[in-house]
Amino acid sequence: MTTRTTRTRLRPAAPVAPPVAPVRFTAPFRTGREQELLAQVLASPMWHGDGVHTRTAEALLRERLGGGCVHLTPSCTHALELAAVLLDLGPGDEVVCPSFTFTSTATAIAIRGATPVFVDVRPDTLNLDVDAVEAALTERTRAVFVVHYGGVAADVDRLRALCDARGLALVEDNAHGLGGAWRGQPLGSFGTFATQSFHDTKNVTSGEGGALVVNDPAFRARAEVVREKGTDRSRFLRGEVDKYTWQDQGSSYLPSELQSAVLVAQLEAFDDIQARRHHVWDRYAAELAPWAAAHGVRQMVVPDGAEHPAHLYYLLLPSAADQGGLIRHLGMQEVSAVFHYQPLDSSPGGRALGRTPFPCPVTADVAARLVRLPLHAGLTRQDVDRVVAAVLAYRPVA
Ligand SMILES: *Cc1c(COP(=O)(O)O)cnc(C)c1O
Repeated sequence: MTTRTTRTRLRPAAPVAPPVAPVRFTAPFRTGREQELLAQVLASPMWHGDGVHTRTAEALLRERLGGGCVHLTPSCTHALELAAVLLDLGPGDEVVCPSFTFTSTATAIAIRGATPVFVDVRPDTLNLDVDAVEAALTERTRAVFVVHYGGVAADVDRLRALCDARGLALVEDNAHGLGGAWRGQPLGSFGTFATQSFHDTKNVTSGEGGALVVNDPAFRARAEVVREKGTDRSRFLRGEVDKYTWQDQGSSYLPSELQSAVLVAQLEAFDDIQARRHHVWDRYAAELAPWAAAHGVRQMVVPDGAEHPAHLYYLLLPSAADQGGLIRHLGMQEVSAVFHYQPLDSSPGGRALGRTPFPCPVTADVAARLVRLPLHAGLTRQDVDRVVAAVLAYRPVA
């Protein structure tokens, strides 16, 4: 014991660097209301789904999403699967979707035995290239699944016209797009269905969570049956039938009231959360512009008519070496930046379960060069100062 004390005293004083808190890439924003609403659920006798908090969250979402019928689900993945069930997708059917997206867009199709058909994205918005969609259609095509990457609207006018002309369903995977719009109309209101995500990497969150938006009234009655284990329990709860029974295909796609209570707190604070996120996004766009122009770095493109919801902020670096280069450079300064989707068409799952009629060179190229910067509602002014300064100090290798 004595020895240890002595040794400690003899050790020369090391210079102590001031601790720098890492700038996280993403973090759920605490509004302060989550615990109160959660406590209400825990004190109540109803913890399962479709109680008052689920109804409140659905009503708040309906206002944001243009009035479609909204059903909360345990995740966006489940909402996509629910859409695939409602469309009766099965073996032999094809669904066109981007190669540049999260796996769930494609697994929701493949899990029904249908074939995801991967097409390339446009180089400006990284959204579906509608010419490529058109070229990929066959007599087996049943639907198009579209993603609004970063919440920047895909070409919904042309996609809607194309789908209507051929009798195809359009499904918006709107995981990034809550709060976004195209020509004043909310993203999530253009498709036969739209799906939302409340994973804690998204703008509002319940940890895990999602929603199915049913915009085509023809699917309303069936959507509530499939979501409720194939029963007409929703009609029973409204007093429209005196018992509920098995009616149709189904599974359990209800989040518990515990999740919904957290989501209500988040949705009530939506405007505040969005203002904070836009503030960060706008600073990156303005303060990185001269550096980007000088070094051949492309910033995000938001076409006229598109209102984005500040879901993510990416930079397209000049080369693949710069993707790793910038991520490592920022990491050394405790700033967490990340790449994004890897091409589905060339992935093992995509090759086994999907079909790719034409190469997807834009997807392959941007997947190798894209870097996303930290973006969440909890970033302070000093955090953003640090990110901006760290990016400005980076010099692309080319
Ligand atoms: C996050 C995300 C999903 C999956 O959402 P979960 O709620 O985690 O299932 C699906 N599609 C896209 C485009 C996403 O970004």
